[in-house]
Amino acid sequence: MSFPVLGLHHVTATTDDAQADLDFGLDALGLRLVKKTVNFDNRGVYHFYYGDERGTPGTLWTTFPYRLRGVSAGIKGAGQVTVTSFSVPAGSLDVWKTRLRARGFTVSDAPPRFGEESVIVTDPSGLLIELVATHADARTPWLSHDIDAASAVRGIHSVTMTVDDPAPTFAFMHEWFGFERIEEMDGRQRVAVNGVGPGKSIDILATPGGVRAKNGVGTVHHVALAIATAQQQLDMREALIKKGIGVTPVMDRSYFTSIYFREPGGVLFEVATMLPGFATDEPLDQLGRGLKLPPWEESKRAEIEAALPSVRY
Ligand code: ZN
Repeated sequence: MSFPVLGLHHVTATTDDAQADLDFGLDALGLRLVKKTVNFDNRGVYHFYYGDERGTPGTLWTTFPYRLRGVSAGIKGAGQVTVTSFSVPAGSLDVWKTRLRARGFTVSDAPPRFGEESVIVTDPSGLLIELVATHADARTPWLSHDIDAASAVRGIHSVTMTVDDPAPTFAFMHEWFGFERIEEMDGRQRVAVNGVGPGKSIDILATPGGVRAKNGVGTVHHVALAIATAQQQLDMREALIKKGIGVTPVMDRSYFTSIYFREPGGVLFEVATMLPGFATDEPLDQLGRGLKLPPWEESKRAEIEAALPSVRY
């Protein structure tokens, strides 16, 4: 039985310096900061959420900047999301190359894939970020002051999951979430759920016998899939438990609720609800301005603020 997954919800990475992270997300990629909070499992570390105007699931890129917070560099490899791809309009890649190079980033052309061109850039933490040019993304972009609608990022296009053996991974994603195989090339299969296209796709890349991933700075921590309701999330959790699959309790992330588990290839998956969203503790036009804490941390605000690095944006 598969559960009604709507597409991608967000991608979360462990990054290095908080200011460099903000500069990349806001100034280089032109995303909107839709929430500045702390890691709910480690209040000494920020949690930044970037996305479109409202932080619509499927546009969300989130980071834990762990610099000097006791986490060492990770290793990219099997059992991990190794590339995060953002969707940009067809014809805009030259603008992006110029923009990113002007900010000191190294950008290269990626080989065309499934009929779409892309460029790849390494972010300040060492994460691999792709910009994929597509005609197929009708989402309304967030427009920062110097990026127009002809170029602006539309949201997450897809992620590349690297696994040793793709067969059990695909079988799991098909059985539980209803992912279908769309296309295949060069050891890579594109799978999609609830339709096809940007925000609904994942590439499963097979690297048999390749290096095993290690979680840490400069790596993606998990990918989250969107589910419509809290009841569906509970039903999915119960069914996973019945099959003997290790899954966390439902976690309150303030802006959605979450469950986490690993697929057979080792990649950490989260399933997150669409609601309540980011305009719950600050108005829509003020998203990302103040440091927002979950209610259970509010009494420690002074101590938390004093310990976090100061940032400007
Ligand atoms: Zn998450």
